[in-house]
Amino acid sequence: MKKMPVVFIGHGSPMNAIEENEYTRGWGDIAARIPTPEAILAISAHWSVHGTRISDDPNPKTIYDMYGFPQELYNLQYSPAGAPALAHVTKELVGNAQIDNSWGVDHGTWSILTKMYPNADIPVFQMSVNQDLNAYEHFEIGKKLRLLREKGVLIFGSGNVVHNLARVNWNMDGGYDWAVEFDNYIKDKIVKKEYKDVIDYQKAGVIAELSFMTSEHFDPLLYVLGASEDADKLSILNNSCTLGALSMTSYLFES
Ligand code: ZN
Repeated sequence: MKKMPVVFIGHGSPMNAIEENEYTRGWGDIAARIPTPEAILAISAHWSVHGTRISDDPNPKTIYDMYGFPQELYNLQYSPAGAPALAHVTKELVGNAQIDNSWGVDHGTWSILTKMYPNADIPVFQMSVNQDLNAYEHFEIGKKLRLLREKGVLIFGSGNVVHNLARVNWNMDGGYDWAVEFDNYIKDKIVKKEYKDVIDYQKAGVIAELSFMTSEHFDPLLYVLGASEDADKLSILNNSCTLGALSMTSYLFES
């Protein structure tokens, strides 16, 4: 079996799930070019909790964890099967993790997968972003996930490198200067494989401070970098900021 890629997707506004735009087309393009996964391990910014939790629900619930959007978004159904056996493998690999089916497939995951795999015919299981861990520890868990790539699992991180809702401007097309600058700073470090500087993103100073108040949208990137390998080929997709204070920039690592 060919080793599966690892991907981090900037998800942005939930409205992408019901819109057609350059970002959603970019997501479809990723699905078209990579091997069809046996299952998807989704690490979503929207399941940020105490502890590393993994769902082994054979029929995970659809979670509508966004507020104040049009009804059409809440009517959207995305109901893939779960992947209990692979969830148990993942728990063994991570070590200090627990099975938890109190959550399901949240909009950080389905808003993208509905564009990548619209038939929901690939099993999906989620792992939490453990908010008790530091950046280095997120990265280290990512490393432990590498073996899943050989089992046909697409490791899929969903968040945003820049995510400051307090500064989002719904009428703005691109990003504020500081948002673009931080997005480029992280991009440069990833291209150079200087992951230690991604982990130590605070060294970027004020542009890092402006880019997010809490790290849950950034953290999935650290898991993905951990799961990537030196020999992987990197592609950067949806390379832009939007609404002032969101980065849509996505990273695909292919073996
Ligand atoms: Zn989000």
